[in-house]
Amino acid sequence: MKTYCITGGAGFIGSHLCERLLQLGHRVVCVDNFNDAYDYRIKIRNLLDAAGIAIPFPFTNKSADLVHLQKLVNTDQFSLIVADIRHSEDMDDVFAHKHIDTVIHLAAMAGVRPSIEQPLLYEDVNVKGTLTVLEAMRKHGVRHWLCASSSSVYGNQTKVPFSELDSVDRSISPYAATKKMCEVLAHAYHYLHEINTIMLRFFTVYGERQRPDLAIHKFAKSLDRGEELTLYGDGSTRRDYTYVGDIIEGIIGALHYVEQQDELVYEIVNLGTNRTITLRELVQQLEAAFGTKARIRRMPNQPGDVDQTYADISKANLLFGYNPLTDFETGITKFVTWYRGNTNGQTLDYSTHL
Ligand code: NAD
Repeated sequence: MKTYCITGGAGFIGSHLCERLLQLGHRVVCVDNFNDAYDYRIKIRNLLDAAGIAIPFPFTNKSADLVHLQKLVNTDQFSLIVADIRHSEDMDDVFAHKHIDTVIHLAAMAGVRPSIEQPLLYEDVNVKGTLTVLEAMRKHGVRHWLCASSSSVYGNQTKVPFSELDSVDRSISPYAATKKMCEVLAHAYHYLHEINTIMLRFFTVYGERQRPDLAIHKFAKSLDRGEELTLYGDGSTRRDYTYVGDIIEGIIGALHYVEQQDELVYEIVNLGTNRTITLRELVQQLEAAFGTKARIRRMPNQPGDVDQTYADISKANLLFGYNPLTDFETGITKFVTWYRGNTNGQTLDYSTHL
């Protein structure tokens, strides 16, 4: 049994990882500040689901709700710490008392478009926050970590599929730039302080508990409610959509890999599927799943959005046997089943932004 610290553990990907590591019998320390990028109640529900707790949750106000959540989920195996990764005292406290073996750093301001409106916030959370986690690890002798990077670091490069060997110096959004900075900072800490590191470049992740700001979730909401669906560009942009269950298996594989090496490790690894679909095809798949035709409102391409993402996943396969098995139709069906179960007749609207 190991003790894993998951920053951002109440989020979309983080809650799935908490659930999987608990299932595998490990101890999990989840650090999350339940930020307002989207409704904190969605994250409360994520963690209740991850912990397998089906008690009705009477939401009142954020701080009272978080205290209530902690009472429900905290056990010998699971600790929820409501803290901000930018606060070094809080991070020191976590590492001083929890005997962490490995960190999986997922906490971040995610998403390309809002990063153009709030670049300083993105820099503060994603760069300073990451540095603060690294510093706390260094001080307390934690020597293994995985850190979430993103396919957005590849920018608008035309050579596909994207390989970890490609140059990634041409970010086209502040979000992408902060993720690239995390890769660079992590290397400095690896070099100076012998921290074993894997930077995981996730490619558009989708599935149950999907973030409400992501296209698949927004499109589902429009189709479900018979509302107009806003589509940016002509629908020809391509994404390598990766089912969240495959991402989680990739993270587990990377954990085993980083923990088993005798040599010091620093690797950057793509986690995608090596398959792409267009935005138009995504809408068609959702139309089929909801059994309804979309009413589409076209808007110009958004600044910061790349034309395509397409992962070369041979390195992940070679290092730790990564093999994403979920085809898009199956993954979308799982997402739509979850979406329907969580929005129909429930008090909490998963699609609401605060
Ligand atoms: P998410 O927003 O659902 O999860 C991030 C979590 O981090 C949230 O629970 C949030 O409350 C927490 N957080 C944010 N700032 C914090 C802070 N200062 N202190 C403590 N906690 C904080 O996002 P996600 O989709 O689960 O993404 C997880 C990671 O994966 C992020 O680093 C993101 O950039 C990266 N990523 C995601 C995707 C994707 O398609 N979802 C693609 C590429 C990379």
